[in-house]
Amino acid sequence: MIEVRRLEKYYGEKHALKGINFTVEPGEILGFLGPNGAGKSTTVKILTGLIPASAGEARICGYSIAEQPLEVKKRFGYVPETGALYESLTAWEYLELLADLHHLDRKLFEHRAREFLELFDLLQEKDHRLAGFSKGMRQKVLIAAALLHNPEVLLFDEPLSGVDANTALVFKQLLRRFSEQGKTILFCSHVLEVVERLCSRIIIINEGEIVASGTPAAIARQTGHATLEEAFNAITGGADAHTRAEEFLLALEGLKG
Ligand code: ATP
Repeated sequence: MIEVRRLEKYYGEKHALKGINFTVEPGEILGFLGPNGAGKSTTVKILTGLIPASAGEARICGYSIAEQPLEVKKRFGYVPETGALYESLTAWEYLELLADLHHLDRKLFEHRAREFLELFDLLQEKDHRLAGFSKGMRQKVLIAAALLHNPEVLLFDEPLSGVDANTALVFKQLLRRFSEQGKTILFCSHVLEVVERLCSRIIIINEGEIVASGTPAAIARQTGHATLEEAFNAITGGADAHTRAEEFLLALEGLKG
């Protein structure tokens, strides 16, 4: 379970989170949406303990992130959009390092690492250095590393960035199974179709405040729009995309002059 209460974050003068509240229950996949700069990554980084909150409280599985960080770290897996990997390690060595940090039993590590690498088509590259891996291959290693200790809570910040369609399909199926098993999943993404299909509930954040919450259909209904995409655009104050594109093209024509 994830509990966020009156969470605030200041970066200097910038009030990036303005006292947000939400809960993600076990078995739920919560889609966390918002335009660029809305506060999604800031929220996820506070949940992982990477940065401190300025005020408010966040808990994972009942443990306070600020006061019981070790208990919290055992219980979540985190996949960032792009993460720093130890380039000189092989994929296998990197997973081994993560498994050691989580004190994972050796046999269990070998079994799970092999399973994940096979699932993501990386088994043949397991002894290759990460420096030579493509963006998508690195992302797959990050996903495997986050899942290795079988955490109860999963925090994903654009986890499918750069990942091919086949892997994305496998990953989404995996998430559905995890939710059936009762894991708690927070899923940040800009890809509305994926969020709409995968998530049982959605939160939309804008300028550090939660501006909508509910099922995709309910959010569309509340705003009087037919689709989540139109509702998102209306709620987050995006100008009419069609008009903006037309104006831009007209301006380009004018430049040719
Ligand atoms: P995106 O979709 O572009 O990844 P986001 O919703 O994840 O955006 P955040 O990265 O959480 O947004 O940023 C929220 C706000 O806080 C933005 O205005 C951003 O400029 C600001 N911000 C984020 N990190 C820092 C930082 N380290 N220092 C100063 N300001 C920051």
